[in-house]
Amino acid sequence: MNRLLSDTARRAVNYLEKLDSRSVAPDAAALSRLPELREALPENGMPATDVIAQLDEIGSPASMAMSGPRFYGFVIGGSLPASLAANWLSTTWDQNVCLHEVTPLSAVLEQVAADWLLNLLDLPDNCASAFVTGATVANFTALAAARHALLKRAGWNVEADGLFGAPEITVVIGDEAHPSMIKSLGLLGLGRDRVTRVPTDSRGQIRADQLPDISGPTLFCTQVGNVNTGGSDPINAIADHLEGKNAWIHVDGAFGLWLRASKKRAHLVAGLERADSWATDAHKWLNVPYDSGLAFTKDAEALRAAMSISAAYLPVSPAGRDPSDYTPELSRRGRGTDIWAAIKQLGRSGVEAMIDRCCDHAERFAAGFKAAGIEVLSEVVMNQVLVSFGDEARNQRIIRAIQEDGTCWCGITQWQGKSAMRISVSNWATSEEDVDKSLTTILRLAQEHNV
Ligand SMILES: *Cc1c(COP(=O)(O)O)cnc(C)c1O
Repeated sequence: MNRLLSDTARRAVNYLEKLDSRSVAPDAAALSRLPELREALPENGMPATDVIAQLDEIGSPASMAMSGPRFYGFVIGGSLPASLAANWLSTTWDQNVCLHEVTPLSAVLEQVAADWLLNLLDLPDNCASAFVTGATVANFTALAAARHALLKRAGWNVEADGLFGAPEITVVIGDEAHPSMIKSLGLLGLGRDRVTRVPTDSRGQIRADQLPDISGPTLFCTQVGNVNTGGSDPINAIADHLEGKNAWIHVDGAFGLWLRASKKRAHLVAGLERADSWATDAHKWLNVPYDSGLAFTKDAEALRAAMSISAAYLPVSPAGRDPSDYTPELSRRGRGTDIWAAIKQLGRSGVEAMIDRCCDHAERFAAGFKAAGIEVLSEVVMNQVLVSFGDEARNQRIIRAIQEDGTCWCGITQWQGKSAMRISVSNWATSEEDVDKSLTTILRLAQEHNV
């Protein structure tokens, strides 16, 4: 065991040390070895060190350097050192975190992490929390609590009796809601298409002058941090509009919720505390390893009612919070541990600095593009940058060249009918030098392929 784990640690360190110099996308030579993994089911085993050697030799070079500082595709983030190491250690513990009585350590770490997160994100401190795989499941989890509460107030027990014959719930979403929100609505039987859509502005933010008249149980799904522009819905206006109604406001803040940790930028997501539930990711902007998402609800009972199970063989824990009372899963890993370690390493001020730094880098990118005469599609408000080199064909050609060059990695997107390249700065380790090095390369390639 000692040899195996020491060898693995050495290989991991070697991987991390190469992150800065290797091609961000795996190169052709690395990819050409992947077929070696496609072998028939082995009849007999082999020594564990040989298993890891093969995994590292074929696997590591063929991985996308997502944990590195110049991967700007999607909203990804890396792993803070303490968080990565805590993840190793807690994987070694192999705790099944569902019951406080059985795995008190993991339950306590989760509770502490939850308290810190509510504080950091400036949300009411008595919210219930759920540690799930990502924002998709966090949206699902919070919306299940919403469904419970809205129907309970209308005299219906949805967990017991299902949705057939239930009072109608009006579901409102913005035109630029994330597809995972729509998927969650489908999973909950509320319908992917059975929604009232509110028009959005040029930044993808719900237009406050277009809010629909509301009557009856209403689930209002909002978003802070549009994946293309970083734009956020006007929560104060929405909360004012819904005052006194049987309504539940949910916020998808997969990365945008983290602006709450920045004194300089919290005003962009003002009023969020007036919502009823929030979904966010820790594996994006908090930079913990995959997978890690969070749901919070003001109404703790609603979340428990939607998620808790009881069985004769499961002990009740008078001593503390049972994590599985709040999540779709029963058995799962202790995600709170990685989050606890990330926050311990950075502290409140370190998280704030990381969020601000990423936003500053996004502004630096935008300024660099503008200075070179390249169109920035949407004024930068968060960590997202949208640029266009001209038309779709030109964007595709230049983006392919950037990905093949390997200095950095950016992806293509569509924004309100226009093709664009998207840069998302979410990694704890990205420096100004990384931004400048990436800009220089992108501008050179844009010139070369601008035919
Ligand atoms: C990333 C993202 C999601 C989905 O999060 P996962 O962690 O991939 O499940 C949902 N909403 C928004 C706004 C996002 O940026």
